[in-house]
Amino acid sequence: MASSISSTKYIFVTGGVTSSLGKGIISASLAKLLQARGYRVTIQKLDPYINIDPGTLNPYEHGECYVTEDGAETDLDLGHYERFLNTPTSQANNVTTGRIYQSVIEKERRGDYLGETVQVIPHITDEIKYRVKLLGEENKYDFVITEIGGTVGDIESLPYVEAIRQLRWEMGSRSLVIHLTLIPYLAAAKELKTKPTQHSVKTMLEYGVQPDILVCRTEKPLNATIRNKIALFCNVDATSVIESIDTSSIYKVPLLMREENLDAVALKKMKMSVRPAPDIRSWKAFIKRLESPRTSVEIGLVGKYVELMDAYKSIMEALIHAGTRNNCRVNLRMIHSQEIDSDNVTEKLAGLKGVIVAPGFGKRGIEGKITTIRYVREKKIPFLGICLGMQCATIEFARNVMNLPEAHSTEMNPDTPDPIIDIMEEQKKVHIKGGTMRLGAYPCTLSPDSRAIKIYGTSEISERHRHRYELNNNYLDRLTKHGIQATGINSESGLVEIVEMQDHPWFMGVQFHPEYKSTVNSPHPLFIDFVRAAKTITR
Ligand code: GLN
Repeated sequence: MASSISSTKYIFVTGGVTSSLGKGIISASLAKLLQARGYRVTIQKLDPYINIDPGTLNPYEHGECYVTEDGAETDLDLGHYERFLNTPTSQANNVTTGRIYQSVIEKERRGDYLGETVQVIPHITDEIKYRVKLLGEENKYDFVITEIGGTVGDIESLPYVEAIRQLRWEMGSRSLVIHLTLIPYLAAAKELKTKPTQHSVKTMLEYGVQPDILVCRTEKPLNATIRNKIALFCNVDATSVIESIDTSSIYKVPLLMREENLDAVALKKMKMSVRPAPDIRSWKAFIKRLESPRTSVEIGLVGKYVELMDAYKSIMEALIHAGTRNNCRVNLRMIHSQEIDSDNVTEKLAGLKGVIVAPGFGKRGIEGKITTIRYVREKKIPFLGICLGMQCATIEFARNVMNLPEAHSTEMNPDTPDPIIDIMEEQKKVHIKGGTMRLGAYPCTLSPDSRAIKIYGTSEISERHRHRYELNNNYLDRLTKHGIQATGINSESGLVEIVEMQDHPWFMGVQFHPEYKSTVNSPHPLFIDFVRAAKTITR
């Protein structure tokens, strides 16, 4: 089956009418179904903004920044791709307009264009095409799915749609265009409306691209009349009009797309066999557990972007995976760190069986995080501190247990007499912001007898990082003496990656981001054990 494919096929996913239609989830769901048929699939996101990568964007602008194994700071959709497919993505899976222009301009300065006028067509479009085809090289994948960010009709998307037009021309049935649109329901008319979809397809046609498949986001089912109408106006057959109905969990979308036959329609259009059907038994089993938990547990997430849906996406998803593994629904209470102080902490954290303190940058809300950690340490509530959350745990411990009241991170207070968290040596000479943190996967060795080694079941692990500051090893002996152990160390640099407290039911701080590696098929062991501890704690 997979091996009989002579060359990689390319599927483009565009969006019309509005943003936030779920292109990332549709791309990931189609990829999942193709993977479940035995194909090797990867997904790429092309983002039409001018930042080189989203690493310099704040969460209000762009939600979470997702970090890959190879240290790329990427769009959060790559997190969905990994969570659905259980295969790692890389730098090549996320390309922005900024990066495209950067490489074209570098080539121009090198003189590579030999005196030509450098233009959007063909130079920018060639660079886009090159980035798309790059993933298909060396026959590593049977399918490359390329999701185009933004909405068709935007000025910014134009070169991407033009690149798709050219690639379609070159590749013929080795390629496919799936266009996502919205079918709004007008309550006053009690009707679903197809006009925005017609207009969106018309815009695609103006650019010379005829979508092969339309995936229509809707809050009500599409009946045959609506499907036929869309088909008639948009030059597709009715079976290529796919309903994408609102659903309670993103993880149900692959099953809904299977019911709508999206994978089979796509394969037929590319002249491929639709047999055998995909094996989605394990996915179905996951959904079953997700939908019928035996119990529930309330966990708090303390951070400064709690009002945003997307800022802590990977942590939220990791908790869903871990909860499902524990047959337990995790009810997440988002708590703003700026609103916590020692007078209200008892009330704010009341009823929680476990608390996560989130990653972050800068001073805002830091004291609320430290106050939270003191409370959960003293009240023996399971605690997981991630990156800045781990750093806050050591600051809290230094201040309140080691009697160093002014202990801090030099990120927040450069003049602290006790810099228990300090800038990494290699970061001192770094002045440029983009892509310069300690990024991506690093190995870590776990101590014997630690909680960490029991949880991971191995002494050598690898986790992904995104930080500039670290635990100051000058304080290590004193920390240990007072009851915090460094149980995960990067043996090459000596950096402390995990701290834990033995005299506590579950207290761990990790300098890395375990949430990036949790997937549906393999939920992260730290999250699984944290939810288990929260579930079993009696308080
Ligand atoms: N601001 C901290 C640092 O740079 C923590 C970063 C994070 O939480 N990702 O080290």
